[in-house]
Amino acid sequence: MQNIIDRFISYVTIDTQSDPKSDTTPSTAKQWILANKLVEELKDIGMQDVSVDENGYVMATLPSNTDHDVPVIGFISHMDTSPDFNGTNIRPRVIEKYNGKDIVLNEKENIILSPRYFEDLLQYKGQTLIVTDGTSLLGADDKAGITEIITAMEYLISHPEIKHGKIRIAFTPDEEIGRGAGKFNVEKFGAEWAYTMDGSQIGELEYENFNAAGVTIKIKGKSVHPGYAKGKMVNSLLLANRFANMLPPNEVPQRTEGTEGFFHFYSIKGDVENTVLEGIVRDHDFDKFEARKELLQKIANELNFKHGNAITLEIKDQYYNMREKIEPVFHIVDIAEQAMKDVGIEPFIKPIRGGTDGSQLSYMGLPCPNIFAGGHNFHGKYEYIPVQSMQKAVEVIVKIAQLTSEKYGK
Ligand SMILES: [Zn+2]
Repeated sequence: MQNIIDRFISYVTIDTQSDPKSDTTPSTAKQWILANKLVEELKDIGMQDVSVDENGYVMATLPSNTDHDVPVIGFISHMDTSPDFNGTNIRPRVIEKYNGKDIVLNEKENIILSPRYFEDLLQYKGQTLIVTDGTSLLGADDKAGITEIITAMEYLISHPEIKHGKIRIAFTPDEEIGRGAGKFNVEKFGAEWAYTMDGSQIGELEYENFNAAGVTIKIKGKSVHPGYAKGKMVNSLLLANRFANMLPPNEVPQRTEGTEGFFHFYSIKGDVENTVLEGIVRDHDFDKFEARKELLQKIANELNFKHGNAITLEIKDQYYNMREKIEPVFHIVDIAEQAMKDVGIEPFIKPIRGGTDGSQLSYMGLPCPNIFAGGHNFHGKYEYIPVQSMQKAVEVIVKIAQLTSEKYGK
């Protein structure tokens, strides 16, 4: 267990925060520090074909140790941390035998990680937790995934009696800013399928996510002196409001869950003359997703008919539900589910109300469900991870390798 803790801490104490405003890949030069460290470490533990490309994508191979043909499988996690919260000077703290009570993260600023707000904590009573000092995020998202993959590879190397096919692993930059899959070389990776180790609590297994589009609505008004505006003024702010109110009032994030979709406006900027309304459309069901986009167009047409083409609607698809790409190869989910059960974990399968790098990779030809990495409360100061969950994730990776080999064995 100390091995996992030391490895995890050696990664999280390297600042790898990504930056959405940067055009380079990786978006921040500091991600190279971890990338280069991982390259050395992978060579040290005996991985083959260790490489890092010009965009900072680290890849490596664990060769097959069986005679029969086994499909090449992969494991992926990301090196960057979220730009949503401070990611520098991370001072992780290890709490042994957690007693189920409040954890004072920062006495000076009175920052407390409490099971009263985060009741998930209680399921880890007696376990070892790693927490922040209250001033930064932890970076378990997704350095836990990196820790688990490397620890599992090391385990397989030192236990040649466990038979497995060829395994490819990859660590990507810039997942948190939606670019982790963008420059991923699927052909070079050369796996038939893979798993991202990027989920949250123990047992999570995900292969469904939203279909997603971004919406920009530009509204042109007509500004006239308010005292003499009768029959002349078009107030673009009010038209924007009208547009939003013509959508189904219950189909918003705060009133939906599970596989229910929604419309969500997150920004309005404007004056009488010009208003820009920005939002997103989300739905797990592809037909419903298309119907949502059609409804937006219908409202725009209707308002344009009344107000002389005041509205320009732009809809841009962002990503799609990976379910469509996973269903034809569903055995890859079955293997992960079986692996969890075999190591004593109750699989917890749920639709993701968001996207993952895996959804993009699935559409790039690498089907890629998502497996728990073990952390909680990502992207903030209350982020924490139980070490036992990381250990279980290592066991799941080893088991998946073994089960895949057995399934295709003679
Ligand atoms: Zn992540």
